[in-house]
Amino acid sequence: MSGCCVYGCTNRYSTGGLKFYRIPRGPRPFQSNRRRLWLQAIKRVDWNEDIIKNARVCSAHFISGKASLDSSSPDFVPSVFMYTKQRQNPNAKMDRYHRKRRRADTAANQRVTSETPEQECSMDHCPAEEDIPVPKREYDDLNLRYSQLQEEYVNLRQEFDTLRAENEQAFLQKKELNRRHNMVKVMSRSLVRELFNHLKTQFLTLLFNLLSTF
Ligand SMILES: [Zn+2]
Repeated sequence: MSGCCVYGCTNRYSTGGLKFYRIPRGPRPFQSNRRRLWLQAIKRVDWNEDIIKNARVCSAHFISGKASLDSSSPDFVPSVFMYTKQRQNPNAKMDRYHRKRRRADTAANQRVTSETPEQECSMDHCPAEEDIPVPKREYDDLNLRYSQLQEEYVNLRQEFDTLRAENEQAFLQKKELNRRHNMVKVMSRSLVRELFNHLKTQFLTLLFNLLSTF
């Protein structure tokens, strides 16, 4: 391929003024999720690894003209296509994103969120490993978040198991208490009966003795 892989896009490496992005890849969930979204967006979910490896998406398909690594950015995924009527003004979408970012970002505005390929990438000088250098800080952030989430998951799982065990134990205890309660009920009933019989016998004996004295 000597240009953009998007349906209906005629941009070539020689067009000039454009950047060409590889389809996202990598083993992390963040990366595979992004890849899936890109393939869905360009309607190429059926592509195999070989085709994907060589495919490039040009920067014309991003509202800001640049792909973003921020999952809340509209440019996280290509969205400007010939074959889609934009449901809303893409610029308005971008403005809204920037407003939201400014609000959320006052503390962390040093974070790099735009992918900035050093130069336009042509077929022969695409860096072999990554033409989209993930900023180290961003990468570390994501890694940290990933391991935090993993840790959180393990903790929650443990908590869940503990609660379940406790619940089972409580259930067994309740069953045991019920059993004892029923036993006591039965025993007290038979005790009362016995006591009554005993008293009756004593009364009758007494009566008999009394009568026999006359
Ligand atoms: Zn294109």
